[in-house]
Formats: sequence, structure tokens, C-alpha cells
Amino acid sequence: MNKIQMKTPLVEIDGDEMTRVLWEVIKEKLLLPFIELKTEYYDLGLKNRDNTNDDVTFKSAEAIKKYGVGVKCATITANAARKVEYDLQYMHASPNATIRAILDGTVFRKPISVSRIKPSVNTWKAPIVIGRHAYGDVYKAAEMEIEAPGKVELVYTKADGTERRETIADFTGSGIVQGMHNLDESIRSFARACFVYALAEKLPVWFATKDTISKKYDGRFKEIFQEVYDKEYKSKCDAAGIDYFYTLIDDAVARVVKAEGGFLWACKNYDGDVQSDMIASAAGSLAMMTSVLVSPSGVFEYEAAHGTVQQHYYRWQKGEKTSTNPAALIFAWTGALAKRAELDNILELADFSKRLEAALLNTIEDGIMTGDLARLSDPPPQKVLNSWEFIDEIAGRI
Ligand code: NAP
Ligand code: MG
Repeated sequence: MNKIQMKTPLVEIDGDEMTRVLWEVIKEKLLLPFIELKTEYYDLGLKNRDNTNDDVTFKSAEAIKKYGVGVKCATITANAARKVEYDLQYMHASPNATIRAILDGTVFRKPISVSRIKPSVNTWKAPIVIGRHAYGDVYKAAEMEIEAPGKVELVYTKADGTERRETIADFTGSGIVQGMHNLDESIRSFARACFVYALAEKLPVWFATKDTISKKYDGRFKEIFQEVYDKEYKSKCDAAGIDYFYTLIDDAVARVVKAEGGFLWACKNYDGDVQSDMIASAAGSLAMMTSVLVSPSGVFEYEAAHGTVQQHYYRWQKGEKTSTNPAALIFAWTGALAKRAELDNILELADFSKRLEAALLNTIEDGIMTGDLARLSDPPPQKVLNSWEFIDEIAGRI
């Protein structure tokens, strides 16, 4: 059989733990037999990030900028326990946050729907897509522990040296403080990315913040979003029959669980982090959530929405063949390959990525699945497989 040829390299970003194990299996069984894979490989395994002082993370983001499309495995975000476990020099920043900061852009997360898995929210008839702003806020904040009484201020020093100050708190004892920011330009590209995605997918857009409390910070988000909509997208949205709806974040959360779905929910960075896990788990499983970072400069990074599935990894290390669901990782690859195919105009590659997705979905529709889905499947599954058997089953159907 002639393998499918690629033109431009795909930026391949390897990661950690169980997802790293499955990454290899997916390549070996589902990709390499069919495609002459052309990738530029970056190893973002925690140990290699530590050895390179995170240089590899920066380089991988620059490579995505250069080539236009990347596919990323899940990676550990270091914390105190990981520092000990991996004998790290220091606590590394989240690689996802680093890459998102370099690429700017917005992360869109969409559940992978299968008829056997009914959403826990029974009013949902169509997927809810989360558009998560990928820059700033708490992910790029400065924090300080305050050890004793004292005054903490925000100080803005302008280029001409003049200052503006705002008291945050007069501490009477120890405590904590945090300073975060965002940029008008980033918020504007967030809004644009959302309307572009919504128009392409014909989805209405919801946006919510807490502007009643955070009048300046969240207020600015609300203002910019409205302005971008009115000036740049309203007429296009009207023509496409989709609308834009703004409300408070708590009202949005309450409405989402009563809605029918089928809309794009634009979320600030933290809201998107939290709500995409809620949507994913209510839609079925974290393992059934796709994720793509779309930057305003037109580059794309595909990944799974879930993490490295740490507990499964420890069981795998003890010799167990775990039943970890590879669906979102496979969709990360098919998304990236399909985008590469579109940009390089390679029809066979576009077709292959559709066939691989269909093979995966048909396997589940036929009642053959991993343990996480077996618990949710209605009707009950025919066969519950471990990840290796499940991937073989998919390979047989491509
Ligand atoms: P996680 O890896 O998403 O897993 C949490 C739980 O969700 C698992 O224990 C498992 O539940 C279930 N799960 C998630 N993905 C699954 C899959 N593919 N198949 C079957 N079950 C799945 O989150 P975590 O364990 O809290 O985090 C582990 C590491 O991932 C952390 O170091 C974190 O920093 C990192 N992380 C990375 C990313 C990223 O790179 N994008 C995102 C989030 C977290 P059961 O145990 O009940 O089977
Ligand atoms: Mg999250």
C-alpha cells in the first residue's frame, strides 16, 4: 500500500504519563501504517522541560507559529508533589499557559457526541462548544504572600514616569495578594475568534462575565465584545441567522443546564477552564472532549481537553493494561492532520482523517468501548476493552 505523503511538517508535542504511553500506540497502530508522517518533534515530558529549563516549551510554540499547525499530548503542570516526584530544579510554569501566551488566541472545546452516551443534562440536544480565552487573567498573574501587617497597592508607572496608585488592602495580619491583567488587543482577538468560529459552525454566541462586581476589568471584556460584534460581525451574524447574547456569568451557568445546547459559549480564561470540565463530564466523559487553540494570526494547536490521566499511569507502571479512553487524543491528531491537509491541499490526508474519526465513532456505536464510557453506555456495551485492544479494533475498521 502506498502511504499518504505530507508536505509541511506537523509540529508534534509529546507529553507525560498515560497520555504519553497512548500517544505512541496511536502513532504506531493508527497513523504510521497509513501516513508517511512528517513531524517536527518536541519532547515536553516534564523531565525534558526541566533539563532544558523550559526552552523546549518555548521552541515548540515558535514552531507552531512557523508551520501553522501543532498537535499536543497532555503534559504535567508541576506542583510541589511533582517537584519531588520528578526531582525538578524548580516548579515549571504550565506548558499550556506558556504556549497559549505565545500564540494568544482562543481555545474551542467541543464534546465528541455518540448516540449511546446520553448527556447527564437531558435537555441538551446538541453539543455546547466552549470558547476559552487563552490569554492572561489568573494564568499570568503575579502573586505574593503577605507575612505581616502592611499596605498593598497597585502601582502603574507610565512610560513618562508618572504613577497611579490604588490601594488593594491594608493588611492587619498575614494574607495573600494577586495582580492580574489582560490586553484590549487580546480580548478583541478573543471576540473575533469566537465570531469567526460561530459563523463557520453556524452557532449562536453566548458571553458572560461578572461585570456587576468587576466593573472595570470584566466591564472592559463586555464592552469590547459588544463593540467587535456591532462593528464587525453583526451584519454577518444576522445574515447567517445567529445572534449574540450577553449575560452575567452566574445567570449563564443557570441557563446552560436548562438550554438545548447548540451554541458557542465564549468564556474568560478561568471560566472556560472550569466550565469546559463541567460540559465535558456532563456530556459524557472528559475523554470525549476535543480542544483546539485558534490564534488570531491563523495558527492552530490541537489537543485533548483532559490531563495525563495520572492514576491510570501508576497502574500501567505496575503492569496493568488500563482501559484509558484514547478518543480525544485521536481527535487531536485527526484535527491537526485535517487542518494540515486543508492548508497543503492533500485530499487523501483529509479523507484519512475523516475515516479514522468514523472508525473510532463506529466502534463505540457498535458497543465496543473503554471503561469510562461503559459506565455511561445506553444500551449497555457489548465489549469493554483495554486501550490497546480498543485501538486495534479501530485500526481494523479504518
Ligand atoms: P486528568 O488526567 O484529566 O484525569 C482525571 C480523571 O478523569 C482520571 O483519573 C480519570 O478518571 C478521568 N479521565 C481523564 N481522561 C481520561 C481518559 N482519557 N480515559 C479515561 N478516563 C479519563 O486530570 P488529573 O489526573 O487531575 O491530572 C493529571 C495531570 O494532568 C496533572 O499533572 C495535570 O497538571 C495535568 N493536566 C494537563 C492538561 C493538559 O496538558 N492539557 C490538562 C489538565 C491536567 P478515573 O480515575 O475515575 O478513571
Ligand atoms: Mg480544567
